[in-house]
Amino acid sequence: MSAVSRVAIVGSGVAGTAAAILLAEGGVEVDVFEQKPDLTALGSGITLQGNALRVFDRLGVWEQVKAAGYSFDQTGLRAPGPDAPFIAQIPDARTGGPEYPAVAGMYRPDLARILADRATELGARIHYGTTVTSFTQDADGVDVTLTDGSSGRYDLLIGADGLHSSIRAQMGIETEPERTGMGIWRAFVPRPKDVTQTDLYYGGPVYIAGYCPTSEEMMYAYLVEPAQDRHLLSPEEGVQVMKELSQAYGGPWNEIRESLDDASRVNYTWFTKHVVPDAWNRGRVVIIGEAAHSCPPTIAQGAAQAGEDALVLSELLLSHDAVDQALWDEFHARRVPRATEVVEASVQLGQWQIDHVRDADVPGLMRRIAMLVSQPA
Ligand SMILES: Cc1cc2nc3c(=O)[nH]c(=O)nc-3n(C[C@H](O)[C@H](O)[C@H](O)COP(=O)(O)OP(=O)(O)OC[C@H]3O[C@@H](n4cnc5c(N)ncnc54)[C@H](O)[C@@H]3O)c2cc1C
Repeated sequence: MSAVSRVAIVGSGVAGTAAAILLAEGGVEVDVFEQKPDLTALGSGITLQGNALRVFDRLGVWEQVKAAGYSFDQTGLRAPGPDAPFIAQIPDARTGGPEYPAVAGMYRPDLARILADRATELGARIHYGTTVTSFTQDADGVDVTLTDGSSGRYDLLIGADGLHSSIRAQMGIETEPERTGMGIWRAFVPRPKDVTQTDLYYGGPVYIAGYCPTSEEMMYAYLVEPAQDRHLLSPEEGVQVMKELSQAYGGPWNEIRESLDDASRVNYTWFTKHVVPDAWNRGRVVIIGEAAHSCPPTIAQGAAQAGEDALVLSELLLSHDAVDQALWDEFHARRVPRATEVVEASVQLGQWQIDHVRDADVPGLMRRIAMLVSQPA
């Protein structure tokens, strides 16, 4: 007996599709409402840590993720300058366990397709171009009204609708993402042969110049700078800024810079931080993933934490008899402290750079988070 038999999920990112997969697999009827008209065909890359890969295995998609992505076990630290000498090669912790690599780079649309296909295969219905405009709830269920004018009644409504969650706002939760002071340029480009892992360049005109391979053919490159208003720049101007800022970096960046063009899907975003304190639910409505917490990708834990939220929530919904306070207490005890620690550590890493702290204990912080997330959620 599970606590729910019909669930509505808003948003088809990692959090929403992971919850859809696990609930559908457990025999729950699942409707996912996604505002985008279809699976986005274009996008950039994502760096997935071992504990995210462990979640993907539980979802039944690890083999596909492994085949589509690019796995590696160490991160290089390089200096600016024409030759970009290596300062260190740092082994990455295998936070998912020894059976998974430490890290896999992945093309975001490939990951989205794999997760959506798995959810559909298990019987979840994904309704693209549709969202929940309003909801009301009573002790036994949630009535939702959709953009197409139809309505439905569910045992639970999950808001997995990302950073600017409309479900979070409709629940009356006032926590909003705040800027951390950093902004990131990203581009999706062909992989030079010598890019076989993430390398991070510290020093020079930006806080970090880095890259991550996502397949044999492709990779994404990024430049993290003080947050500024770059949003009005045209794609061509964005390419130009990336080319100029990356001039200080050699090694593979020479080839990356050459391949930057309008087709590189150059994109600029500010880093944010937030954690909804205490309760992520109001009655039978709950938020997970970036709707509940966001952090700069300094430890690349966003997708892992989103997946873990879905995993723990689904496990509790399938093992409890009722959606009651005992279920929510267990959910919050397992998720809020862990997600909060990851957010705070990710923000701290960025803040040390903003403040130019030279003797920060970066290895100590990374070790502490690796030990935390190595434990199953
Ligand atoms: C610049 C940058 C780089 C990052 N790099 C990494 C990284 O390398 N590794 C990592 O693990 N994490 C990274 N992250 C974080 C990671 O992207 C997120 O933590 C993760 O995608 C969260 O997944 P989610 O499912 O909660 O939200 P999302 O992926 O944002 O999915 C939300 C979904 O909801 C949909 N939606 C939104 N509003 C509505 C609505 N009203 N109705 C219906 N649907 C709606 C959206 O279209 C979207 O499909 C990065 C974040 C940023 C900003």
